[in-house]
Amino acid sequence: MMRIDKLLCSLNLGSRSRIREMIRKGQVAADGTVILKPEHKVDEETVLLCVEGREYRYRRYVYYMLHKPAGVISATSDPKEKTVMDLLPVLPAKDLAPAGRLDKDTEGLLLITNDGALVHRLLSPGSHVEKTYFVTCTTELDETAVKTLEQGVEIGDSSPACPAKLVHQGERAWLLTITEGRYHQVKRMFEAVGSRVVYLKRLRMGSLALDESLPRGAYRELTQEEVDALKAL
Ligand code: URA
Repeated sequence: MMRIDKLLCSLNLGSRSRIREMIRKGQVAADGTVILKPEHKVDEETVLLCVEGREYRYRRYVYYMLHKPAGVISATSDPKEKTVMDLLPVLPAKDLAPAGRLDKDTEGLLLITNDGALVHRLLSPGSHVEKTYFVTCTTELDETAVKTLEQGVEIGDSSPACPAKLVHQGERAWLLTITEGRYHQVKRMFEAVGSRVVYLKRLRMGSLALDESLPRGAYRELTQEEVDALKAL
């Protein structure tokens, strides 16, 4: 059971004071009954809320896929730059954050959720969750360069990058799969073999593939199957 004002707050429906005001004005109903006291308790698992005529159900965790465009940063807020969160409307959950970072000029799959435990699992190096990127670079990689990347290239950190899988996609274009997410990792890996990344797009994270029908800058909720598959990784 949960206080109704707290529940509405967790659904991102306004500040505590705004929510209390809506309750006192009779604009909030739970299972068809108008509730006038902010401290009234409801069963958050089952209650159907109606706020200013719109219906809501509580969900502890929500999951969205964003097709990140270039030009926005992967942060929840920033005093100067536009962030990935600025691309989303007000969503029905507090504490939403991107699962890891893509560089400002990188495009592609970004998971946005409030499920911290799942994010931790997806990003922790020990989980070995594969992330696949489409990369175009300045030079054709020769066999030695490909082997070096496949074996785990030195990128100036205390340990080499994890071994990568590479699939040639055409002139200076590769699919690269790695199981880590270090700062500028893909760019540093290509630099380490004498090339430079000119375009980078994340296509997949574990079982979750970017929905190519999502235009750049658009987002959608994950399906239950997608969420279950991520949790099973
Ligand atoms: N590697 C990079 O260099 N940049 C990204 O945005 C993601 C992976």
